[in-house]
Amino acid sequence: MTLKEKIYLPAVLGGMKITFSHFFKKPVTTSYPEKKREFSPVYRGRHVLKRDDEGRERCTACGLCALACPAEAITMVAAERKRGEEHLYREEKYAENYEINMLRCIFCGMCEEACPKEAIFLTDRLVMPEHLRKEFIYKKDKLVESMDNRIDVSQRQIKKYTVEK
Ligand code: SF4
Ligand code: SF4
Repeated sequence: MTLKEKIYLPAVLGGMKITFSHFFKKPVTTSYPEKKREFSPVYRGRHVLKRDDEGRERCTACGLCALACPAEAITMVAAERKRGEEHLYREEKYAENYEINMLRCIFCGMCEEACPKEAIFLTDRLVMPEHLRKEFIYKKDKLVESMDNRIDVSQRQIKKYTVEK
């Protein structure tokens, strides 16, 4: 080791030069939650179970989303629609219970791809932090959209965003 190397001065000065150069660079981080980044229209966040224009649940409990889910995050119980429930459910079969375990979900979007009824979509909404694990099991009360506060998924229904050949 030379004397110059022994006193570490060049190395210290080199380190400080790098540190000071970062003062003048644009930060790459965002001060969340004060500032929020814009999400892509096809961002894969929290799911929604859609209703049709008449307010009826679209899901027919066919189970294809659960079958497609690589994380085995979706479970449901199917039921037969009764007379007089035509205004609630679009088809003869519906999901009496429908659950997504958000701790298992990897937000891959396979459930959305698999659904033949355009009933489930991922959205730009976030899964919020909870204190208890059981709170991350989202049931129909958290998944089915409300007619007073409909969730726009029109961008997701444009298949153009998938790889074009
Ligand atoms: S986004 Fe993927 S992991 Fe999450 S529920 Fe759907 S298929 Fe399963
Ligand atoms: S969300 Fe779609 S794929 Fe899943 S059970 Fe309902 S209709 Fe079937």
